[in-house]
Formats: sequence, structure tokens, C-alpha cells
Amino acid sequence: MFGTSGIRGAVGEAVTAELALDVGRAVASEGYNRVVLGRDARESGQFLGDALSAGLREGGADVVRVGVAPTPAVARAVEWFDGDAGVVITASHNPPEDNGIKLWTASGKAFGPADREAIAGRVQAESYDLARWDEIGSQSRLEGVIDRHAETLREAVSLARPLSVVVDVGNGTGGVTADALTDLGCDVRTLNAQLDGRFPGRPSEPNEETLGALMAFVAGTDADLGIAHDGDADRMMAVDERGRFVPKDALFALFARAAAGEGDRVAAPVDTSLAVDDALAAVGASVTRTPVGDVYVAERATEPDVVFGGEPSGAWIWPTETLCPDGPLAACKLVEQVTKQGSLATLVDSVDSHPIRRASIEAPDNKAVMDRIHELVLTRQAEREWTVDTLDGVRVDAGDGWFLLRASGTQPLIRVTAEARDAGRAEELAEEATALVSEAMGE
Ligand code: MG
Repeated sequence: MFGTSGIRGAVGEAVTAELALDVGRAVASEGYNRVVLGRDARESGQFLGDALSAGLREGGADVVRVGVAPTPAVARAVEWFDGDAGVVITASHNPPEDNGIKLWTASGKAFGPADREAIAGRVQAESYDLARWDEIGSQSRLEGVIDRHAETLREAVSLARPLSVVVDVGNGTGGVTADALTDLGCDVRTLNAQLDGRFPGRPSEPNEETLGALMAFVAGTDADLGIAHDGDADRMMAVDERGRFVPKDALFALFARAAAGEGDRVAAPVDTSLAVDDALAAVGASVTRTPVGDVYVAERATEPDVVFGGEPSGAWIWPTETLCPDGPLAACKLVEQVTKQGSLATLVDSVDSHPIRRASIEAPDNKAVMDRIHELVLTRQAEREWTVDTLDGVRVDAGDGWFLLRASGTQPLIRVTAEARDAGRAEELAEEATALVSEAMGE
């Protein structure tokens, strides 16, 4: 039922009012007594929110509804409004026909595996503790969550000078970025700023393919940079002043380098580029690897010497601010960095990028094949001087490069990633990884 980013699927099929009602009942039954509930701009979010609220109240929880708001604002509002959990009705960057449910703890961190299991288990078993007739929960409506988010963003950064910024909101809930940057003195222009859960302006996922209009607009004007968010604004990607999409790994390296000092650690999933390791080594800091998924990055970011966490998909976490990936905060942090360290194009060019190879190999029983790969790697580890990490799939660090083998969770595939500082070596590592898969499959 739950993926690492919550529940997501097609409205009227996987995601229904009945499911929302049951999740509400389950959350209340788990003992959460005051729940902050918000949603993204999808119209289906109205009835899903009503159903979820009904389930929460039936289970005895008081519901604080904050309306349409960025996911990070709702996650932060759990603490602002003395809640003990938060719920966002959103399918993030998925197409408009989908919707979903993301759950947040009181600390603004996404529900982890155990919390998710508890909810899913109750829904599957239809096991709820419903309230007595005179103990049903209340529902109230609190306004101003977006203004408060904007205020928090303004306080989180200090700009050395105002910049000219273009914000592509993608018809999602990230308009708060434009508000905060305007208040900070920047000259802000927006694209796709009207809230519309049908995402008429561009697909909701911000990437090099979907941000053509932003890239052209920034290149054609005197803007210092462009910012883009996904539908619920927990993600942020950027475009430099020349109109170039900033590669995800470069953005990660820039944030990591700015956040970390001597002895600090930065949380990053096992598939993160060496560019981040290199950027951190230059300031005496290091990477701590996590399974793939921003919830695992957030979990690691609670450790005291972890000053930043990132997921190259565009989720950026500054744990002293919030454990929820906050796209508008990332936008303000990037603007701050550019005002202090020079143009974004110059900053991006200062990050070394390395050749990376990706492939998918068909493997019908991919979990069993991964077990065999693990055994094979362990038998070769000592002789090859590999460092092996099995946090998520099998990651082999060969000193001058690495490869990662992971079973796809949804398809009968094994995904291969290999990276090294030169192209020939990356190719060699990719071939070695592919050969391991063949061997494990008995070919
Ligand atoms: Mg999102």
C-alpha cells in the first residue's frame, strides 16, 4: 500500500474516498490525537481530504485543516499547531489523474517504515478503534499557513544582494517561493504560477525535459537564475543564468559544500554521484550513505553531525530547519549562495562531473538474483579490494569508482549504475557489474 513516499495511484482505482477514510481511521487508532491536514491543488484532494478527516474524527482525533499548501508547509505546521501528525493529500509530481497520501510525524519527518506498516496493517485488517459517540474529534480550519511558511523562509537566509529570479511554479503549490524572494528584495518573475491540479503548463516533475520554457526564458532575460518546483513543492531544481538546467548531482554538491565544514557528514542515497564525495572532501566533510528514498535521508539527518541531506531527485533537507524536504527553502538557500559566492553558472562549472553509466537488465526473479550477486561479490571482495555496502542493493566501491546493482521494486529488472572519474574506467565497472548479473543468472 505504501511506497517510500506514501500512498500514490490513480484516483477512482487505487486511491478512493474509502481508502482515505480508512487511513484516517487507522491514523487516529494509532493514537494520533491532533492531526494537521492539507492538500495540493488537485481537485480530487477535496473529497479525499473530507473522507480522511471523517476517518480521523471517527477515530477520535481532532483535525486542523490548512487547505491547499506546499507539503513542507503542512509538515512544518504539525509543530506550529501542536499536532502530533500531519497528512498531505498529494501525488507529488505524478500526472493529474493520480492522487495520494503522505504522512508526517510531529518533528516534520515523513513516517518511517514501522509507522507506515502500522497504518497499512490496520487498513488491511480493518482494525480500528473508533471513538464513542461523545468522544468524536473536532474539525477546525486554520488560515495563514503559507504566510507563516514565507516568513520562516525569509528568516532562514540572508542575501548579500537582491537577485533577479524566475520561478516556474508548475501550477503547483510552490508559489510561496516567489512571495519569500520578493519579500527578500529580489526581482521575481513567475511561470505557471496559477494553481491548477491539471498541470496545464508543464508536466509536474521538474527535469531537463520538462523545463524547456524556463530555460529559454532565463536565457533570454537578465535573470540570475531559474527555480522550478514539483506539484507539492517538496522538490526544487534550478536553471543557471545561461539557461542551462543544473544537473542534479551538481546542485547536490553545491548545497552539500555550502552546508558542511570540517568533520561534518552529509546524508546521501547509495546512488549519489562521486561529485558529492569530492565536493565534501574539499572541505574536510564526508558522505554517509542511505537507502534510496528521501525518508531514509531524513532519518539519517537526525544524527547530530549530519548537517545536510539530499536526494538527487530534487529533495533537499537542512535538518536544523525541518526534516521535510522543503523546495521553497532550497530555492532561498540557492539564491543566498549565489549572492555570496558568484554566479550559478560559475558555481556549477566548479563542480567536477564524472561519467556515469546506467542500464537495466531483465531478470524475472530479480530478488533471488540479487541474493546470488551478493554472494558472488562477497567471495571477490578481499582479492579485489572492494568495499561492499548492502544497505540498498549491492554497492561496490572499487576505490577509483563504484557500481551499484539494485532490484527494481516494480519491474522484473536489475538496475546497474557505474561511475568513475574517467570514462574508460566507468565503462569497465559497468561491464563488470553486468557480468556479475549474467553470472548470477547462471548464464
Ligand atoms: Mg513532491
